[in-house]
Amino acid sequence: MSSIFGEFLNFDYLHFNRVCNGANNKWVWFPKSKNHKLTSMVYTHFNNSVGNHDTWNGWGNLWRLFVAPRPKHFIWLLLHNGIKTYEYLYRLNLGAQTFCKFCNLDFENAEHLFNSCPKTQIVWQQVSNAIGKQIVFHEGFSTGNWLSPDHPEYDLNVQSIIGVTSWLIWKTRCNLIFRQESPDFQSIPIRAINHVREFSQSSNFNSSKQLILSNFSINDGPYLFVASTSHREANTHGAGFHLTNGYSQFVCAGYCNNFAESTLEAKSLALLIALGSLHASDLQVKTIFIACSELFNIIKHGCDPQAWRLNPLILSINDYLSSFDLPRVCIIPKAWMNVANNLAIHGVNSHALTLFHQGKDLPRWLMKQVLKSGISL
Ligand SMILES: [Zn+2]
Repeated sequence: MSSIFGEFLNFDYLHFNRVCNGANNKWVWFPKSKNHKLTSMVYTHFNNSVGNHDTWNGWGNLWRLFVAPRPKHFIWLLLHNGIKTYEYLYRLNLGAQTFCKFCNLDFENAEHLFNSCPKTQIVWQQVSNAIGKQIVFHEGFSTGNWLSPDHPEYDLNVQSIIGVTSWLIWKTRCNLIFRQESPDFQSIPIRAINHVREFSQSSNFNSSKQLILSNFSINDGPYLFVASTSHREANTHGAGFHLTNGYSQFVCAGYCNNFAESTLEAKSLALLIALGSLHASDLQVKTIFIACSELFNIIKHGCDPQAWRLNPLILSINDYLSSFDLPRVCIIPKAWMNVANNLAIHGVNSHALTLFHQGKDLPRWLMKQVLKSGISL
């Protein structure tokens, strides 16, 4: 083994994990394995192994930031050098060295993208102006020094804003490369500050349970959730939907039943009815959540020949979407839209469209559902 690994072979470390060289050749872990899941045990064991201590106190601080889970995970990955920049892919031999798409002046790596790029520098300057504190990364951005709880200049609020800003820079970069969206650097500082304000002031919410608060910002609202459910009787389906604004407040909801020959047709009808109701009530929508990837693909790319019957339906849906200025359509698991699902179940037996509006009396079951899912009335 020494001849293969040379000086990289660390016998002390290997001996720390006891290896049973018996006939069955099983690994025997040093800690007791009783009542523990294997993955968590291995993780804990190696994290506490000799020489493997990561004592940097910034990690603990990261989870205290006033930001959504997604940016937190992004920062964690970034500080572990795991963001898939062009340089990262080049190191893994998965692509060529490529210039930064923002400035075209230097190769793209994390330090350039989040610190030295001229476009990013402007963003940091605007953030500095907006919060009245100069943000400069003397020791580099990807070292993570700015996240240290002992940092003399940045408190948790500023650290949160820095974290979200870097996440928005990354999103802007990815949207430019993968969606050809031209970068809107101007909006980043205000979006970052709003995001942190939202999270620092929402302690009364159970934010981890809220899809909207955790992964979208106020600017993405209002949100429309649409669900459809099938009845035991053939061809009868229930449709349910509700609209929530960017502050997680209830705006309107509705249900009805409809007759359709396939579940896809029923789901399309549910979306059409929801959009039609919003249009009739003069309401706006910016993000739509549905649970059906098939419907999503048809809206995006048109019907395949087998689904030609749905063509007029999809055309009407697209007409409505255009009239709402093309809201973003997202697919989420059905379990994440309990309110819309319950409305759809009620819809199965309802022959007329029933609508509920903000400020009007809601049935008790609906009020309970709405409040339970983190939406305020
Ligand atoms: Zn650049």
